Amino acid sequence: MTAPRPATPDVSVVIPVYNEEPGLQALFDRLYPALDALGVSYEVVFIDDGSRDRSAALLADQFARRPAVTRVVVLDGNFGQHRALLAGFAQARGARLVTLDADLQNPPEDIGLLLAAMDAGHDYVGSIRRMRRDVAWRRWASKALNQLRERTSRIRMTDQGCMMRAYGRRIVDAINQCREMNTFLPALAYTFATNPTEVVVGHEERFAGESKYSLYSLVRLNFDLMTGFSVMPLQLFSMMGMLVALASGALFVLLVVRRIFVGPEEGGLFTLFALLFFMVGIALFGIGLLGEYIGRIYQEVRQRPRYLIRAVLEQPAVPAAAQACLPGIAPADPPARP
Ligand code: UDP
Ligand code: MG
Repeated sequence: MTAPRPATPDVSVVIPVYNEEPGLQALFDRLYPALDALGVSYEVVFIDDGSRDRSAALLADQFARRPAVTRVVVLDGNFGQHRALLAGFAQARGARLVTLDADLQNPPEDIGLLLAAMDAGHDYVGSIRRMRRDVAWRRWASKALNQLRERTSRIRMTDQGCMMRAYGRRIVDAINQCREMNTFLPALAYTFATNPTEVVVGHEERFAGESKYSLYSLVRLNFDLMTGFSVMPLQLFSMMGMLVALASGALFVLLVVRRIFVGPEEGGLFTLFALLFFMVGIALFGIGLLGEYIGRIYQEVRQRPRYLIRAVLEQPAVPAAAQACLPGIAPADPPARP
C-alpha cells in the first residue's frame, strides 16, 4: 500500500480517540471496507486525545499499513472530545467532513447516508439515533436538555448527543476561523449552516471499553452548549429577580396594611423563613450562573492554545493538479454550494 495520498480527497472522516485500545481493531476492520464501498476518495484523520493506553501505537500501526488514506494527529494531552475534533477539523483536507466516534456506537456503514444527504444539497447533516443504546438516565437527561436548549437558543437538533455528522467545506472553514475555547461543535456548525438537515442512523452499544463521559463531564458539556449559544439563562434570571422583588414588595405592603388595620401580629415566622430560603436559593443559583459565564469569559481572554499537537503522521500529499493523473484517484469535486 504505497499509493500517494490525494491532497484534497472527497471525504475526510475525523475520529477522536481517547483510551479506545480494546475496540480500535474492530473499528479499522469495519471502517475501511465501508469507506472503500462508497467509491469516493477519502482520508481518515484520527486524533489521539492523549490516550494513556496503547491507542496511539495502534493508530501509528494503522498509518503504516494504510498511509495513503490515514493520517494520525497525536495531541499532547487530554483536551476533550470537542477540542480533539477541532484539531481534526484544522487538519482535514477533504471537500466534505464526517465526524464519527471511535467506539463503533455509530455504524461506519451509515456514512453513505450522510453523504447522500449532502449530495442532495445540504451543507450540514446531523443525525438521529434510530434506537439509542445508552443507559436510561442518559436518555432521559438528554431529552430534558434537548427541550431546554430548544427553548433558550436558536439551535434545532433532534438528537444533540450523536456525533455522527457531516459538514461541507464552507462550514469547516468557518469553524476553523472560530477561536472559542469551550464549544459544542455540532451547535457551532449549525449556526453557519444555510441548509441543514438530519438523517436517521443506527446506534449500537459501545463495542468495547467504557464511556469517557461521567455525569460531571456531561453537565459541563451541557453548560458549554447553553452558555455558548444563548444568553437567555442570564436574562431569564434578571426577569426572575424582578418578579421576586415585585412579589416581596407586595408582601411588604400587605404586612404594613395588616399592621395598621389588624394590629401587631405574631407568627408567620416560618412563612418568612420559607420566603427567605426561596430567595437565597435563587440568589445562589444566579451567582453560580454568572460564574459559568464569567469563567468562560476568563478562559477566552487568556487565549491559551486549545490543544497542543505532539506529532502528525502523514504521507506527503500529491498536489491537486497532479491528482488527476493518478490511477484510481479521481480529482475531488469542489464542495457543493446550495
Ligand atoms: N473522546 C475523546 N476525548 C475525551 C473523551 C472522549 O477524544 O476526553 C472520544 C472517545 O474516544 C470517543 C468519542 O470521543 O471516540 C465519544 O466518547 P464516548 O464514547 O466516551 O462518549 P459517549 O458515546 O458515551 O457519549
Ligand atoms: Mg460512545
